[in-house]
Amino acid sequence: MKNLPRFAPLALAAALAGGVPAPALAQTPSQATVAAHVEEAKRLAGEDLKALTGLCAPAPAARPSQAEVDNGIAAQIARTPPEPGKAFDNLYFVGSAWVSAWAIKTSDGIILIDALNNALEAGSLIEGGMRKLGLDPAQIKYVVVTHGHGDHYGGANYLVGKYHPRIVMSELDWKMTETRLEFASAAWGAPPKRDIAVADGDSITLGDTRVAFHLTPGHTLGTVSPVFDVKSGSATHRAMVWGGTAFNFGNNIPRLGSYIDATGRMSTLAQQQNVDVLLSNHPGYDGTVAKLDALRKQPAAANPFVLGVPTVQRSLAVMRECALATRDRFSL
Ligand SMILES: [Zn+2]
Repeated sequence: MKNLPRFAPLALAAALAGGVPAPALAQTPSQATVAAHVEEAKRLAGEDLKALTGLCAPAPAARPSQAEVDNGIAAQIARTPPEPGKAFDNLYFVGSAWVSAWAIKTSDGIILIDALNNALEAGSLIEGGMRKLGLDPAQIKYVVVTHGHGDHYGGANYLVGKYHPRIVMSELDWKMTETRLEFASAAWGAPPKRDIAVADGDSITLGDTRVAFHLTPGHTLGTVSPVFDVKSGSATHRAMVWGGTAFNFGNNIPRLGSYIDATGRMSTLAQQQNVDVLLSNHPGYDGTVAKLDALRKQPAAANPFVLGVPTVQRSLAVMRECALATRDRFSL
């Protein structure tokens, strides 16, 4: 057969473009539906969002072994960290080559999104990076942990011990970190003690800034994606940090179903709120390091972090198509 059946992904694209609801067609998963979702993800991604199509690569059916987890984390932590940088007038990157930490500066202190792997990174990259950028780490009032994996919470206890910020995570991921961790590693700091549990639609306000939390389950059961305003000169943009991206939970069709739903819901919300900035908590997905370099070289040029509403929609659609491909692959 020459032409692969493409109507399901095309219906989605049409729905995204025109708000027409996609028909509730349940196509029987096949090699052809997998290929069609992958092809659609690549088409939507074009050149600018190519990094996201890595999500379409076959995901392992089983969780990695402890040795694989430890070796993978060690290799990532060993990478030379990028320079910290200012993405917007009120948003700063203080992460590593593997994991992002974003500092939102408000009129009454700092909200940090994610705390990196461990105390060492919290000290060198978060505190060190903030000082380099002229921010005072003692001003950190909240640490938002996007999900309960150690690369996002590992440095939290160090920051709590020093600056006493409140820690924000979803109820389900607090429960996971309190009971049975999905991933554990000696390279990670221990999970923080339960503090603020947020539900879908909750928000925190600090000074002039409100951060809304949306549950986008899939990567973990309680992944949270924060949405907030960012400023660039006189312009205000609406930013979303996607809280958990990879399919590293093995063959788990309900999880993929949650992920597919989450991308759909967030694409509607992003359209309604004119979200024109989509950030990741891993710089490999959103090109943060290259964008910061570009901003440093040409501070007067258009801010490369401002994607525009259609490109944010396209990004969510690429992730959704890859989740559909992965779901179909596991359903064969
Ligand atoms: Zn994770």
